[in-house]
Amino acid sequence: MRFSKLRLNGFKSFVDPTDLIIADGLTGVVGPNGCGKSNLLEALRWVMGETRARAMRGGGMEDVIFAGTTSRSARNFAEVSLQIDNSDRLAPSGFNDSDQLEIVRRITRDVGSAYKSNGKDVRARDVQMLFADASTGAHSPALVRQGQISELINAKPKARRRILEEAAGISGLYQRRHEAELK
Ligand code: ATP
Ligand code: MG
Repeated sequence: MRFSKLRLNGFKSFVDPTDLIIADGLTGVVGPNGCGKSNLLEALRWVMGETRARAMRGGGMEDVIFAGTTSRSARNFAEVSLQIDNSDRLAPSGFNDSDQLEIVRRITRDVGSAYKSNGKDVRARDVQMLFADASTGAHSPALVRQGQISELINAKPKARRRILEEAAGISGLYQRRHEAELK
């Protein structure tokens, strides 16, 4: 599985539809302070099923919706789409019926979030498990937030262990075991 494109629409400062092409190799994003670099990474985390508003630097999840400026009015929804090249067919069952996957998350004011996979409605949990299995995901150690390195250094042993487990790719198993125990 390889991410190939991220599309933002009404997400934070990206009021107009914006595509970020993720080519082979290294992709760099440069720009002045406040231009939206961190918002791009947050969009990636969000479309993979992030549920913590605080991780999006907001008070509530609807804070990811474009809030308006003096010249443009606020939006009613935000949408992020992630295009994935699945030609290696490594996506888990339920997602593995095509070479191209498009995961879309949309949040509408007073309604909440909805997810689609190649146009079909899916549950938040399905999307979270898709990425948990691929050891990417909203909590992936591959996504390093601003200030996260100092958090890691100051973390208590238990919290640090969680981070190592994410890195080892076994956190999806924990989630499954937890669900099995609830049944
Ligand atoms: P730095 O180099 O300082 O880390 P950055 O490029 O990472 O900056 P971001 O933090 O991604 O910048 O973007 C911050 C900008 O996004 C601010 O101008 C802020 O007003 C804007 N922003 C955040 N949320 C929203 C929203 N809901 N609606 C409109 N604009 C928003
Ligand atoms: Mg930043």
